[in-house]
Amino acid sequence: MNSGQPNTQTQNKKSWQRLLFTLRVIEVRLRFVAILIILGLAIGYWDYIENWYEHRLAPRKAALSSASQPSEEWFCPMHTFIVRSEPGKCPICGMPLTKRAKGEKTPLPPGTLARVQISPERILQAGVRVVPVTYRTLIDETRAAGTIEIDEESLARITAWFPGRIEDQFVKFVGASVQKGEPLVTIYSPKFLAATQEFVHALEQLRAASSGPSQEAERARRVVEYARQRLLLSGFEPDQLAEIERTGTAGDRVTYRAKISGIVIERNALPGDYVAEGQTLFVVADLQRLWVQLAIPESQLSLLRLGMPVEITSAAFPNQIFYGEVQFVSPTVDPATRTVRARVVLSNSELKLKPGMFVTGTLRWPVGGMEEITQETTGVTHVLHGPAQTTSTVVAQPHPSVYYQCDMHPEVVSLQPGDCPKCGMHLTRREGVPPASLDFGTTGSQTSLKATASVYYQCDMCPDVISLQPGDCPKCGMHLTRREGIPPAGSDAGTTTSKSEVALVPHHHGASAGEGPWEIGYACAMHPGDLRQQPGICQVCSCGMPTKLWRVRKVLAVPELAVIDTGLRKIVYVEQAEGVYDAREIKVGNRVGAFYPVIEGLREGDRVAAEGAFLIDAESRLNPSASALYSAQYSKSENEPERRAIESSPSEQSHQEDHAHHH
Ligand SMILES: [Zn+2]
Ligand SMILES: [Zn+2]
Ligand SMILES: [Zn+2]
Ligand SMILES: [Zn+2]
Ligand SMILES: [Zn+2]
Repeated sequence: MNSGQPNTQTQNKKSWQRLLFTLRVIEVRLRFVAILIILGLAIGYWDYIENWYEHRLAPRKAALSSASQPSEEWFCPMHTFIVRSEPGKCPICGMPLTKRAKGEKTPLPPGTLARVQISPERILQAGVRVVPVTYRTLIDETRAAGTIEIDEESLARITAWFPGRIEDQFVKFVGASVQKGEPLVTIYSPKFLAATQEFVHALEQLRAASSGPSQEAERARRVVEYARQRLLLSGFEPDQLAEIERTGTAGDRVTYRAKISGIVIERNALPGDYVAEGQTLFVVADLQRLWVQLAIPESQLSLLRLGMPVEITSAAFPNQIFYGEVQFVSPTVDPATRTVRARVVLSNSELKLKPGMFVTGTLRWPVGGMEEITQETTGVTHVLHGPAQTTSTVVAQPHPSVYYQCDMHPEVVSLQPGDCPKCGMHLTRREGVPPASLDFGTTGSQTSLKATASVYYQCDMCPDVISLQPGDCPKCGMHLTRREGIPPAGSDAGTTTSKSEVALVPHHHGASAGEGPWEIGYACAMHPGDLRQQPGICQVCSCGMPTKLWRVRKVLAVPELAVIDTGLRKIVYVEQAEGVYDAREIKVGNRVGAFYPVIEGLREGDRVAAEGAFLIDAESRLNPSASALYSAQYSKSENEPERRAIESSPSEQSHQEDHAHHH
């Protein structure tokens, strides 16, 4: 038993050690698994952990750093992506930068829907081409189908004023050409005889009385005149009465003659027929003047003007253009065709065009409008342009040696350069003493006028333009602002009053923001797009019409390629800097050729993406992260967000206010 005791002890010890070892192995394995699980969890919930860490610790870090970093930054209000940590000037527009709290969001300029930045590589890839928005002469052109009709005003009806039987008919068929006064038909009519007998009798009385006392002759003459008037009223032609007067007999046959030269288009009676009083015997139409009924699409209605010229072409004469004039526009729209009927009067002296023919009418009119410059508009003399009328100029230069004159209106003379208030042309610089007829000496009467004036009108842009009457600024075209009080000293209010009808550009109602300067030149009314410096004969389309002097207003025009029509609105991308484009909603008129006239949303000189605009648009909508490629050339500030593909519009409200302001 003694020897057995240590034996069992060592056995126990061994098994204990084995157990410990096994446990240890298990523990190591478990620890490994646990580490794996923790690692897995940490990876799986990494975002959460990171968030939690930032939530708890980031504010503390920020609080620490804010003490050392500035809390302000500077940005350009026009180019909100320009952000600097110190004051300076905008590298794009040169404007001084504006201070704001660091990280503060600045709304985009009004009217801007979004801003997109595109990398130079993408610009190249997309083939983006940027063009400036300019004033252009846009000639709106519309073609419309039409039918030639007889001019109802050139119809002559030959009516039987006396009942009877047709004895002779000189016109045998419809379509025959007749000359004015040519006999058409002879009718046997006892009633005609009865009606004329009174006249014949009165003539006999007069003949007898003319040898007797003058009172008798006078009475007889009055009776003849009375009978003549009665016959004229019942349809007689004066030459028919002259015939009766000459022969002294009436007879029982009456002959009806053609009242105008033309074509017989209706013939209602055959020889032997009995005709009633008032029956139409013939209708003669003068086909030298025709009507064209054009169906103008409703959408082109703004183009249509009474009196405007129209080009008419027909398949029958492909090489010839006929010119007509709009005489009437129907007051209603045809609900079936959505067209408006415009009646064009056409000269057809060669009788080539025939009623019933299908033709095409072409109408042209400048989008900005045009006016003929006539002698009446140029009749006023001794006009001084605004700036030259200031008292100081007149006193300082009693004998000026340089003056400015309008080439079109020699009476428009100014001592300072500028534009003609009548036609808008640049004044030409001339040397020498201005024409003697100029009225420089109105200074005396001016002071009294100025002292009494309590309301005047001034241009906000050009403070030297002051008028005592409302109107538009002759320099910049802006509405003059009404002001109360006495006009500023040195202003030319007095002079402007007396010449306001010339010095001020007449106010155009419904003038749109896109209206630009006038262009002056000679053209025919049909082809105002071809303005020439010299008068002559229009050469366009072998037109051959003599040209007149016109002024045609240019309008702000944006290339069609630049305009993206979303269906709801039209958008252009305006370049702010290379690779930075603002999406701007614009309002445009009907497309004219490759351009849209701008009504709202763009200014002269705005640079719009013409080619590649669709790709910029796609970039901004489909792939907001595309701009991440942008090399952040302008955003040097650390706080500048890397991605700013689309910034939302500042607020829909301010946008609407902007709209309301324009209307
Ligand atoms: Zn700027
Ligand atoms: Zn002029
Ligand atoms: Zn002005
Ligand atoms: Zn022409
Ligand atoms: Zn033409």
